[in-house]
Amino acid sequence: MKVLLIGSGGREHALAWKLAQSPLMEAFYAAPGNPGIGEHATLVPISADDQEEILAFCRGHDIDFVVVGPEAPLVAGLADKLRAEGFAVFGPSAAAAQLEGSKGFTKDLCARYDIPTGAYQRFNNAPKAKAYIRAQGAPIVIKADGLAAGKGVTVAMTVDEALAAVDDCFEGAFGEAGAEVVVEAFLDGEEASFFCLSDGKSLLALATAQDHKRVGDGDTGPNTGGMGAYSPAPVMTPELVERTMREIIEPTMRGMAEMGMPFSGVFFAGLMITAKGPELIEYNVRFGDPECQVLMMRLKSDLLTILHAAATGRLHEVSADWRDEAALTVVMASKGYPGSYEKNTAIGTLPEAQVDAKVFHAGTALKDGKLVATGGRVLNVTALGRDVAEAKDRAYGLVDRISWDNGFCRRDIGWRAIGRDKT
Ligand code: AMP
Repeated sequence: MKVLLIGSGGREHALAWKLAQSPLMEAFYAAPGNPGIGEHATLVPISADDQEEILAFCRGHDIDFVVVGPEAPLVAGLADKLRAEGFAVFGPSAAAAQLEGSKGFTKDLCARYDIPTGAYQRFNNAPKAKAYIRAQGAPIVIKADGLAAGKGVTVAMTVDEALAAVDDCFEGAFGEAGAEVVVEAFLDGEEASFFCLSDGKSLLALATAQDHKRVGDGDTGPNTGGMGAYSPAPVMTPELVERTMREIIEPTMRGMAEMGMPFSGVFFAGLMITAKGPELIEYNVRFGDPECQVLMMRLKSDLLTILHAAATGRLHEVSADWRDEAALTVVMASKGYPGSYEKNTAIGTLPEAQVDAKVFHAGTALKDGKLVATGGRVLNVTALGRDVAEAKDRAYGLVDRISWDNGFCRRDIGWRAIGRDKT
C-alpha cells in the first residue's frame, strides 16, 4: 500500500513508527512530518491544512490510503474532500468530527440519547451565561464551544473565576471557538481516556490510557496539551469498560448514524469516573497526544491493517492485540510552556531506540543538521515495563540521558497508578 500520513507531532511519530513496521507498506510519505517521522517516511513539505496540495500529492503519487493524525484538518473537511475523490481515508467526515469540534453538539447528543454527562447550558452571550453561573454556584466548568488546542476549558473553583472565564471567551481569547460557550456542572472523580475505532457500523474497543493535563508536578499549574500518559489506566476495570461501552460509546455511535453522520475513524472518550459511574467529559475524534505514544508501544497487531479496515467498512474482520506490559511516556517541553518559550534551542544526541523504549519527536526540527526544539511540547520519552512503576523508571532513565538545557518535564508521570498499586 502507498500511504500518506498527515501531521507533525509526537502522535504522528508514534503512528509512523508503527505503520512503517507493516508488511503491507509499499511506499510511505508524511506531510509535513518532523525529523523523527523522517526516519520512517519520506517527508513532503505540505501543511496539514493545505487540502488542495494534499489532494494533488495523492493524485500525483497514486496514494492508496491517507491517515489523518490531528483534529483540525478533520474538522475542516479533509477526509470528505479526499473521499469524494475516491481515496481511502482514516479519519471522520467534518460532520462526524463535530463530536470534538463543537462541545455544544456533543452535549446535545448526550441529552438526546441519554448518555451520562454533567448538566449543562449553551450560551451565545455573556450576561445570560453569567446569570446561569451565579444561579448554579461554583465549582463549575466553562468551555469555549469550538477547537481551542486544549486550552478553552476553565475548571472554576469560584464564581468570580467562572465569570472571568466567560468574559475571556466572549472577548475573543479563543477566537471563533469562543463565540459560543458551554457551562457545565463540575464532575468529581478520576479521569481516564477510552479509545475506540469505528467504521460507521461496527466498533472495536482499543485500550485505556491516562493523561496528565496540568503542567506541574502534583497536577498543579495551567492546563497543557498533555505532559505525559500511561496505558492501561487501572481505574478502568473490566466492569467499567463494559458500562462505558453500553452507556456511552454504543449510544453515541448509534446516535451519530441515526443523525446521518456515521463516525469512521478513531475516537476517544474523556471520562470522569464519578461515584455514580463513568460520565462523559468530552470526545476527541483522533488519537490523543501523548496517549497515542503509549498505545502504539503496547499494540502488537499490525496498525496499517487495522486502520485500513476501519476506513473501508471492514472493522469486523480485524482485532487488536495488546502487550500485557504497561507503557508510559514523559513529555519534555520547552521552558515557559504552556506560556511563551524560546525557539530553536539545541538538543543533544538522543538515546538509540530499543524494541521497548523510544523517544518520539513532537516539536523538533533540523537546523544545519542539528536537532533543535521548535515547539512547546518537544520530545515524548516512552518505555514499556512490567507495570507502570517500571515503565516510569525506564522512561525517566532515558529522560536523564537527554541533554537539552531549555527543556523540562514533570517528574511524577504515573503517580496515580503507582499510588493505587501501593494501596
Ligand atoms: P477538555 O478539553 O474538555 O478535555 O477539558 C480539559 C480538562 O478539564 C479535562 O481533562 C478535565 O480535567 C477538566 N474538565 C473538563 N470538564 C470537566 C467537568 N465537567 N468537571 C471537572 N473537570 C472537567
